[in-house]
Amino acid sequence: MQQEHFDVLIVGAGLSGIGAGYHLQTRCPGKSYLILEGRDCIGGTWDLFRYPGIRSDSDMFTLGYSFKPWTDPKAIADGPQILNYVRETAVENGIEQHVRFRHRVKRAAWSTPEARWTVEVERTAGEGAIELVRFTCNFLFLCAGYYKYEAGYTPEFAGVADFAGRIVHPQKWTEDIDYAGKRVVVIGSGATAVTLVPELAKKAAQVTMLQRSPTYVVSRPAQDPLANKLRRNLPMRLAYHVIRWRNVMWGMFFFQLSRRRPDKVKNLILGGVRAALGPDYDIATHFTPRYNPWDQRLCLVPDGDLFKAIREKRAAVVTSEIDTFTHDGIRLKDGSELPADIIVTATGLVLQVVGGLEVSVDGRAVDFANTLTYKGMMYADVPNIASAFGYTNASWTLKCDLTCEYVCRLINYMDRHNFRQCMPHNADPDITAQPSLDFTSGYVQRSVAKMPKQGSKQPWRLYQNYALDIVSLRFGRIDDGVMQYS
Ligand SMILES: Cc1cc2nc3c(=O)[nH]c(=O)nc-3n(C[C@H](O)[C@H](O)[C@H](O)COP(=O)(O)OP(=O)(O)OC[C@H]3O[C@@H](n4cnc5c(N)ncnc54)[C@H](O)[C@@H]3O)c2cc1C
Repeated sequence: MQQEHFDVLIVGAGLSGIGAGYHLQTRCPGKSYLILEGRDCIGGTWDLFRYPGIRSDSDMFTLGYSFKPWTDPKAIADGPQILNYVRETAVENGIEQHVRFRHRVKRAAWSTPEARWTVEVERTAGEGAIELVRFTCNFLFLCAGYYKYEAGYTPEFAGVADFAGRIVHPQKWTEDIDYAGKRVVVIGSGATAVTLVPELAKKAAQVTMLQRSPTYVVSRPAQDPLANKLRRNLPMRLAYHVIRWRNVMWGMFFFQLSRRRPDKVKNLILGGVRAALGPDYDIATHFTPRYNPWDQRLCLVPDGDLFKAIREKRAAVVTSEIDTFTHDGIRLKDGSELPADIIVTATGLVLQVVGGLEVSVDGRAVDFANTLTYKGMMYADVPNIASAFGYTNASWTLKCDLTCEYVCRLINYMDRHNFRQCMPHNADPDITAQPSLDFTSGYVQRSVAKMPKQGSKQPWRLYQNYALDIVSLRFGRIDDGVMQYS
């Protein structure tokens, strides 16, 4: 069987995998690396999701890479623009040629005597035939995202087979879905639902957002006037970093304020909704969640597009529970009916850890659900492996960029000291394991038991704070007594 060796294998060619390639080739020159990508293109999330209106819900000055300024006037960007940005990064830095497409990584086995990973990969040939190929590497960097690509999450609804129209999950949206002049019901209240509703409302006869419970929705200008002004007057890179830091600071301030003064932030957000929808709209029912701001991710709507569609009566929000799907639509528990030609189940993702890989160390299977994460990126007693996993309360890339920097520091440190293995190990009996995510969102709660745990103290504790992570990952000691080298 074919077996090639690389210093570093990266799994995934999405936003974080391409970023990892860039950091490796600039910070660890001379290291060989290969990116193994299961699909046939670069872009991950931003290629997979094709539903109308797909866009970021955080600003591109923080979702963009630290090393490549976002230059489009739109701060909240469309999916295709983000995809283009990732692909452009890959092409202009020569990263594309390091990617092997249609290579799905299935297993990784670490051997301590050899100090290397053996990685088993399913390679899909042009005609769809699958063959098994093997690679070996010294360091495995998982940039595989956080959810399953095969299908999204759909709860079991009664009567689905009776519905005469089309049911589609946004993760499976295809271009042939014609919603012009149709009655569409979007089930859900998260980022995907609030993105879809105003966009569908441009062509559909009527769009109803059917939610069991509301989410906090905040309007933000799609274009950032200060950012555009700075860009006109400052060198591009300087302007980018000023705006990036302004947005990082503002995000951290708003998150901390939400934690410390939840009522104040709640009133602020609801005040914004009231101003957008008018005093007669039933905000208490449709836009006032039962939880505090940032107990779940906030939903951002550029230029209040969702509110505009509601004001113009092209879209409506219904807050109720589904009894059953019927031939003509959905019957609710209060007995009322929502007629529909198309039902969109914007009901979430299925979370997945470490790209679905089976990982073993010297023949022992690693159970990630019972493993502590080190600095939110490596795993206790698992050598030479790291994951790029972003923030839940800020842009994904902020943490991934720092994770890449840390991995490069680690690799260079090992080279300088002739070490072949690095492995975080917890020798402190007082450290207790806790869930790694404290969000109350359904998709987190459904999967949190299967995810690696965080510890009660540093360096096992997750900060979810960019400034503290800079101190820990960019400047923190590589030889901190917890990471063991051999
Ligand atoms: C609709 C949507 C909107 C979002 N908007 C935002 C936003 O505005 N701001 C924000 O911060 N975050 C957002 N996110 C989160 C988003 O996923 C991240 O911002 C970011 O794109 C993740 O990049 P990634 O490269 O880490 O993962 P992904 O984009 O998921 O890419 C992972 C890649 O790894 C590949 N892969 C996975 N497993 C394997 C395997 N075993 N073998 C080989 N290849 C594998 C996949 O095929 C994929 O190409 C959004 C997510 C979704 C779904």
